[in-house]
Amino acid sequence: MRKIKNQLDSSRIQEIFDTCNTFINEPMKSIIFKNKNIILQESKNYNLYVPKMLDKYPLTNFAKAEIDEIKKLYTYKFSPKNSEGRIYYDLLLSNAGLSCPICGCATANTLDHFIPKTKYPQLCITPNNLIPVCSNCNEKKQIKYSNNYLEVPFHPYFEEMNEKWLECKIVFDVSKIYKYIFYCGNLTSKLVDKYKVHLDIYKLNDTFQGYCNSEIVSSNDRHRRLLDISKEELIAFIKETAKDNEKVDCNGWKAALYRGLERQIDDYCIYLKNRYN
Ligand SMILES: [Zn+2]
Repeated sequence: MRKIKNQLDSSRIQEIFDTCNTFINEPMKSIIFKNKNIILQESKNYNLYVPKMLDKYPLTNFAKAEIDEIKKLYTYKFSPKNSEGRIYYDLLLSNAGLSCPICGCATANTLDHFIPKTKYPQLCITPNNLIPVCSNCNEKKQIKYSNNYLEVPFHPYFEEMNEKWLECKIVFDVSKIYKYIFYCGNLTSKLVDKYKVHLDIYKLNDTFQGYCNSEIVSSNDRHRRLLDISKEELIAFIKETAKDNEKVDCNGWKAALYRGLERQIDDYCIYLKNRYN
């Protein structure tokens, strides 16, 4: 995961709310009017509690009927193309740059509510609660939520993964690779449970399979040529590729894959030699 900067500060919630609050029909109009202060206040408080003090965040619980109405601020007035708030939506999307901050693979083309709007609709248009991600990561995460810091994923606006934790085990069978198993390799970290949750909630193991496969297939010829020169040449190249990718993201799938190849170099050499036979 990559840390990203949010260009839309949550202190602008009043302006965003006013832009989106154009309902003229009942019961929407009255429900939004009645809950305006809750939406503004709890949005402004977001940074005080998220992500480290989630359990202390005094969030109002709404009845199902009201949740459905308040959510419309987002689904009718914020996210649709040409809606009043779409300008903010697009600005938040652009926070991601060229790739999804969670998987680092696809383009971020949608916004994920870090705290789900299905439970806390008062945060449905809160800028810091809206993370630009790819549709795959958004779909995988669904609406899972806990108020325990260790049971929620990392928050890309506020957190950095400073220590190396993601590792990859490659399952070889002589001339085939069956799968890539991503896991938390830093078991002494006090964040080990959180790393596992992050991997699990976004089902990154599934997402990374295809990317690893393409990387291996497209690198095989080059790796085989290096192996034909000497095993040391191949090892040096794999180490260098791991280091180059660690500079981009030391917990990215590519850095983890190359660290895995380095650890399993004997199996990888057998695979390269048998692949074309
Ligand atoms: Zn993604």
